[in-house]
Amino acid sequence: MKLWVTPKGDKWLCNECQKELQEVIEQEKWRAALEKFEPMLRCSECNHGDVEIFD
Ligand SMILES: [Zn+2]
Repeated sequence: MKLWVTPKGDKWLCNECQKELQEVIEQEKWRAALEKFEPMLRCSECNHGDVEIFD
């Protein structure tokens, strides 16, 4: 999970959402402030964590 500094505030994004938002990231010049592998973190876009939960 990476913490992105965006014009609308900081956002945690998972890899999937990062791919989806790649164009916006480039257009708005988001900056990755830090990366953490922390299962409790939730992505701001999809609300999922880094750890996949299969049910
Ligand atoms: Zn996500």
